Amino acid sequence: MDQEARLVTVDHAWSGRWSGRSLLRLDAHGVVFAGSVDEHDADTLAGAAPPHVRGTVLAPFTDSHVHLGLIDAAQLPVGGISRVVDLGWDPTIAHGWLGRSGRDGWPEVTIAGGLITAPGGYPSRSGWAPRRASLTVGGLRTATRLRRAARFVEHQHALGASVVKVTLNTDAGPTLDDATVRAVVDAAHGLDLPVVAHVQGVGQAARAVDAGIDRFAHTPFSERLGDDLVARLAASTTWVTTLDIHGRGEGGTEHETAVDNLSRFRAAGGRVLYGTDLGNGDLPLGVNERELRAMGRAGFGLAGLLDALSPDVAETTGGARLPFTRVTWIADAPRASASSDERAAWLARATALTADELLAVALEEKTR
Ligand SMILES: [Zn+2]
Repeated sequence: MDQEARLVTVDHAWSGRWSGRSLLRLDAHGVVFAGSVDEHDADTLAGAAPPHVRGTVLAPFTDSHVHLGLIDAAQLPVGGISRVVDLGWDPTIAHGWLGRSGRDGWPEVTIAGGLITAPGGYPSRSGWAPRRASLTVGGLRTATRLRRAARFVEHQHALGASVVKVTLNTDAGPTLDDATVRAVVDAAHGLDLPVVAHVQGVGQAARAVDAGIDRFAHTPFSERLGDDLVARLAASTTWVTTLDIHGRGEGGTEHETAVDNLSRFRAAGGRVLYGTDLGNGDLPLGVNERELRAMGRAGFGLAGLLDALSPDVAETTGGARLPFTRVTWIADAPRASASSDERAAWLARATALTADELLAVALEEKTR
């Protein structure tokens, strides 16, 4: 993209709200949603009809739970994912990924670094995680543990983490004591970092909310949570969906429990992020149609799905109209009459495009 901004039009646009035929401004910094064509006077369009992109352009989609160490990140934009949050790897390697964020065909990357856990706790004995991914906090004296926990948080922050991860998984070994979890939360909040937890095992969701955890890496699947607990969780935590990690949605118990918990969490006003735990098992690289279908069964309509897929959109488009490195393109229009499953299929046809790539789509259209 040269320095001069180019305008293109598109049939439909969504950047936190829908607009019909819309203008997009493309420049060296990315793509800006410039509003409905009707809002612009003839001067803006300068007489000449800008090149046109058919279909729908939407704000960038984020997968809020991936493991880049287990997948080929460069495949993700083709599949519609512009941004990812890596929730756990060897911190030094994860730090290196920040340098490739949004370059070499990679999506934009944010990281958690390592996973803070008890000695022998998850994921130190799981096959998927490299040894250095587990940051174990031991020591007989409470004061020692609290100090070590805080030091791990500071170290992840220094490596560029924008979220801190702890694990509370009683199915896979010992877990941190409450005071140590609290120390992680306090240290992270002192650095303005949210804390995400892998919560697994009966009773762990209640422990997590008591300790001040901000985000759950998975919709809780170990037990059906009571409505009172769901209400508390909805008031103070954000959940990353990951419904499709449980046996392909063929009526598996954990899957059904998760869908049930998520539907009540959503109904109680809980904030939800689309995420797949990509790298965990056989999941598609890109927008996962099965994940969206399961969210549909938990009560998410198109607006709810888009909010979960584009969580940053309110902050990035509110007034300042910052350019997006990539935006989402779907070659046709959303249908108001679509069923929940058809909506999931439509979103799963998304591709993430840079300003240059979007302009190429528009110019290709022109020469047809
Ligand atoms: Zn994970």
